[in-house]
Amino acid sequence: MLSVAEARALILDQFAPLGSETVPLAQALGRVLAADVRADHAVPPFDNSSMDGYAVRAAEVAGAAPDRPVDLPVSADIAAGSGLPGPLRAGTAARIMTGAPMPAGADAVVPVEDTDDARERFSAQVPASVTIRRVASGGANIRHAGQDVQAGQVVLRQGQPVNPATLGVLAALGQAQVPVYRQPLVAVFSTGDELVEPEAVPGPGQIRDVNSHTLAAAVEQNGGRVLRLGIAPDRLDVVQDRLRAAAEAGADLILSSAGVSVGAYDVVKAAVEALGTLSFWRVRMRPGKPLAFGRVAGVPFFGLPGNPVSALMVFEVFVRPALLLAGGRSNWRRLEVRARLLETMGSDGRESYLRVRVERQGGELVARPAGDQGSAVMTTLVRANGLLVLAEGAAEARAGEWFPVWLVDGADLPEREAAGPAN
Ligand code: AMP
Ligand code: MG
Repeated sequence: MLSVAEARALILDQFAPLGSETVPLAQALGRVLAADVRADHAVPPFDNSSMDGYAVRAAEVAGAAPDRPVDLPVSADIAAGSGLPGPLRAGTAARIMTGAPMPAGADAVVPVEDTDDARERFSAQVPASVTIRRVASGGANIRHAGQDVQAGQVVLRQGQPVNPATLGVLAALGQAQVPVYRQPLVAVFSTGDELVEPEAVPGPGQIRDVNSHTLAAAVEQNGGRVLRLGIAPDRLDVVQDRLRAAAEAGADLILSSAGVSVGAYDVVKAAVEALGTLSFWRVRMRPGKPLAFGRVAGVPFFGLPGNPVSALMVFEVFVRPALLLAGGRSNWRRLEVRARLLETMGSDGRESYLRVRVERQGGELVARPAGDQGSAVMTTLVRANGLLVLAEGAAEARAGEWFPVWLVDGADLPEREAAGPAN
């Protein structure tokens, strides 16, 4: 039986980005950049005003104060988008709007609030002159060309996921077509004679299929496309057919659940061996010992445990990193924090992923069990916002000790009043 680290190293060794394609900017959200993005011009592209006000030569208004205002004739009016202005005539001010290019010669903008041109009257009518009442001490209110991005700079890196801010940088740079990695196509099916679809009413001894739904969702959340192959009974020939269908449909990865343990009707391992190779089928992990990994007609295959929590935990620890690497991501690690455990939690010496709720309490992070840790108790996973990682060899995670906790997708970190006297 392999350790978690050994199994993960063996698995991740077999995954690399699949290839790339180009998509329009509007479809790039959530995709992964397949190339570095280098700026061919500066952002902002020209010096511009960060305020609505008056562009001046700072030296000409240096002494301005409420009791010693400085009057200047207004020689120009510069709106955002109105093209490049001529130079600022000496001894004058130019009315200027936020985002409008600075006229040559001007080296400061006096905000309209510091002039006699009250905002109410800041209208289409350009005043003949303006009274400057104050010169702001901090800054000239100019955004210089290149303040954000310099021409020639590599701003975005290959392997980086595209989020709204990344999209903004791509748009600013005119990158209307975005090179991204191809999304892995992942075939997903459940095995088990007891399973029926969620819309069916289970007969005696039957239950609804959970895993093909949780796993498909987890695939989509991590950048994959899903090929749903439904439910297969515990029959060698049917499971083989399903695996063949997945490979023929061009799947980059195949996920099945259940039937990989030592039960009398566990046929998945035999089906994989008949069509390819099985590298291993057990890992020293809790929950989730039965994990089969191999290849079917050349396509990487994961046989996940049947218990729904185990299936998702094995996805989290092994499949998610593999999927992210196949999708071109350079980093697959979760955000990890350290939290103090408030209640002792038991384990059995395997590397354990305990479902916890992490909260801020008096300036530190604390964790408590999210509920029953049974490997079929999905609602505990719903309540959890973190997975506490207990290293191999420990029989329990003791209250008062600090542990690494992976924060799960969209985790909230509630603030709670410290109970009892502060320590
Ligand atoms: P197995 O790995 O086939 O021994 O299944 C382990 C446990 O997980 C059994 O209690 C199964 O009924 C349950 N199980 C297997 N597949 C699913 C599924 N797709 N949805 C919900 N429970 C399942
Ligand atoms: Mg079974």
